[in-house]
Amino acid sequence: MSAAANQTSLFDRMVAGLVPYVPQPLVRRFGEPYVAGLTLDNALHTAAELARAGLLTTVDVLGETVGDAAGAAAAADAYLQTLDAFHGRSLPTHVSCKPSGLGSKLGWEIAGRQIGRIVARAEELGAFVRIDMEDATTTDATLALYRELRAQGHERLGIVLQSRLWRSAADAEALVDLVPNVRLCKGIYLEPPQIGMHDRDAIRRSFSSLLRRLLKAGSYVAIATHDEELVVDALEAIDQLGVDRDGYEFQTLLGVRADLAKLLAREHRVRVYIPYGSDSFAYAQRRLRENPQIAGYVARDMLRELARAVDLSR
Ligand code: FAD
Repeated sequence: MSAAANQTSLFDRMVAGLVPYVPQPLVRRFGEPYVAGLTLDNALHTAAELARAGLLTTVDVLGETVGDAAGAAAAADAYLQTLDAFHGRSLPTHVSCKPSGLGSKLGWEIAGRQIGRIVARAEELGAFVRIDMEDATTTDATLALYRELRAQGHERLGIVLQSRLWRSAADAEALVDLVPNVRLCKGIYLEPPQIGMHDRDAIRRSFSSLLRRLLKAGSYVAIATHDEELVVDALEAIDQLGVDRDGYEFQTLLGVRADLAKLLAREHRVRVYIPYGSDSFAYAQRRLRENPQIAGYVARDMLRELARAVDLSR
């Protein structure tokens, strides 16, 4: 990687570090393009629009913080309603759920029970559930939960591997017996160097090698990236390995590189991740951290604040 690119990434990381200090209303406003809206109707509307453009969807229900087992059950109920509503509108869909949103911080058995309910309903409806991967302190428990649910006979269930993590190659190997349906992404959680890579090119190389390993092992891979270099590399891998159209898909996030999603959808299956719900703050913060324009947002906001302060002092 060139020195200039490394400097850019250092600058990006510095600015991304400011995101926690950006005022809540501003985060919510800049986060709007990344979220379908507050309600299930908003999600249905967005999914129907995307379907007209030839794009599939996976829905993330952004709930309130789960404080007890009843809260976890209520969060799972929102997923069941989502699955039913999409099915009712003949919109084939997938859902993506975070263990923490379903009670894992209270106990993994709580989250497991709730994800089990969601996947059971998905199976009745011919839908699919993906367990999102959170930070590295949760990787072992998430993979163990996936294995346990698969052992219970749940097949319409997928997992996520993060190419940033040093451990992911070993995790991919350990999962081979399950021929898992894997979403491959770089990983949004910035981990300490002993746990996660920090060099962009190393994360890309890891992505490329994991993708090839998973495809060779017969896994269905959801290639979740907006990085054009990785998209081109994935297309090469698919071609070289002779993977047919039903063996993979591309995935993008709502509000990010819609142009790329539409272009890919001309020849490949493409699924857009659409979050909706009342608690979009943490999600919007994560997206802003990755947004190349975040420096502009922060700078403009700081200038506006400065102008206001000068105005008030007059
Ligand atoms: P980047 O180099 O970050 O981005 C490539 C280009 O995409 C950028 O140059 C820019 O043009 C554009 N871009 C990227 N992000 C933004 C943004 N927020 N706003 C505007 N433009 C942007 N991570 C997890 O840790 N666990 C998960 O379960 C998980 N699930 C995901 C599901 C999907 C469908 C996707 C697409 C990503 C998911 N991620 C998840 C996030 C992922 O790990 C990356 O953090 C994220 O996709 C950005 O990496 P990138 O590969 O797109 O490359």
